[in-house]
Amino acid sequence: MTWAIVIHGGAGGYARAMPADLEAAYRAALRAALDVGAAILNDGGAALDAVQAAVCAMEDDPLFNAGRGAVFTAEGENVHDASVMDGAQRRAGAVAGVRRIRNPIAAARAVMDRTRHVLLVGDGAERLAEAEGCAMVEPAWFFTETRWRDLEKALAKRGTAIPPRPAGAPAPAPASPLAEGKGTVGAVARDSAGHLAAATSTGGQTGVAMGRVGDSPIIGAGTYAEDGVGAVSASGTGEYFIRLSIARRICALVELSGLSVEAAAEAVIGKELAAMGGDGGVIAIGPSGEGVCRFNTRVMFRGRVSAGGAAQVAVFNDEAF
Ligand code: ASP
Repeated sequence: MTWAIVIHGGAGGYARAMPADLEAAYRAALRAALDVGAAILNDGGAALDAVQAAVCAMEDDPLFNAGRGAVFTAEGENVHDASVMDGAQRRAGAVAGVRRIRNPIAAARAVMDRTRHVLLVGDGAERLAEAEGCAMVEPAWFFTETRWRDLEKALAKRGTAIPPRPAGAPAPAPASPLAEGKGTVGAVARDSAGHLAAATSTGGQTGVAMGRVGDSPIIGAGTYAEDGVGAVSASGTGEYFIRLSIARRICALVELSGLSVEAAAEAVIGKELAAMGGDGGVIAIGPSGEGVCRFNTRVMFRGRVSAGGAAQVAVFNDEAF
């Protein structure tokens, strides 16, 4: 196999039957993001660029909980986390708690390429992103009615006061249904030179406390890549993914126990995460480009394609891959 890419648009539940047009929209959006990454790899581009571009496409699509379409914290804000890792040299970059960077994954890449650091948070991350030419937007740019309604519902259930609509948000409008999943996005790839990379971006989880950081910007938890071993991007309740160092743990099982990425993902998601009561899943790719997805929720939006093969997208847990 020369090149290969796997992407995800988040793991989660979906209590009701998903309306057919919504399911079709998710499949089309996954396919579009997959095509963006595949085109780069097919032209001989780097795995790192392919994962960034695929994630960027999903950040711009309000169907997903990353970039535009991000969920709201309990205080009614869209706060973003993202990370990227280059398996060739195990370089990594991440941002957390950012509010004005249109594509948080581009800022994570800037942290990796342009600083001595791995993780920048809040104002410092935004300043770096701006200085490095990342597109900056007003917080209201990320607003979607559907995610706002999700917050209202979540806070009403808890009996907590609903914060005022964010400054600059459009007037209340009918909300189109969105997957009640979590919608974090991610990508893992192997390029024709054999290098691996992983990237993840999220708006976090609905109604979390101000200052909460999940697994997505934590290298080793939500994202990990190491040439010759594997690359992983996760989605799910981040606290479990941090406690289990899931992305690194899957790669460690491959490296130290000789498991395939598929068997390693099964051991960690199917057994350990489940035993802890955690929910979510991962996409992973092995050194020769074998791409897998393992999750314990009803839905995980996902897609994969490799050189010369047909693209596949899937949504539900009873679909192959
Ligand atoms: N893992 C993300 C977080 O905890 C959310 C998700 O993937 O649904 O922030």
